[in-house]
Amino acid sequence: MAYESAHGTRHLCPILQVIIILVSVTVLLAMSKRQCSSLSNVLKKKKCSAKFKPEWLDELAETELPTASKVVKVKLGDIFVYREATDDVVCKLCQEAKAVNDFSNGKRWDDWKIDYLKRHISQKVHLDSCV
Ligand SMILES: [Zn+2]
Repeated sequence: MAYESAHGTRHLCPILQVIIILVSVTVLLAMSKRQCSSLSNVLKKKKCSAKFKPEWLDELAETELPTASKVVKVKLGDIFVYREATDDVVCKLCQEAKAVNDFSNGKRWDDWKIDYLKRHISQKVHLDSCV
């Protein structure tokens, strides 16, 4: 019996140590991951948001007019409408043109970015709606 318990202890210890090491590595990784994501959230704070920001509609963005082939500055609020009830954004031009894209019916994201709106007004599907 004495041998068995000594034997058992001798073999249990390294396993326990491995488990402890694994647990601490997991905790450390989880912590550093969280720190990383909170850091990147701070860095992205200006651009990324869990919600649509109404002040985005006051921003100016550059877009190329297909009819004039020149870059013009447009106010995002002249193009996009935010619908609070459905928490989505509609592109007025695409909606009027009945364009087949998400912006005609209402586009929403989990992470809102003003860049998404700016990107849309340079997309072909949107520019086609302007013609
Ligand atoms: Zn559009």
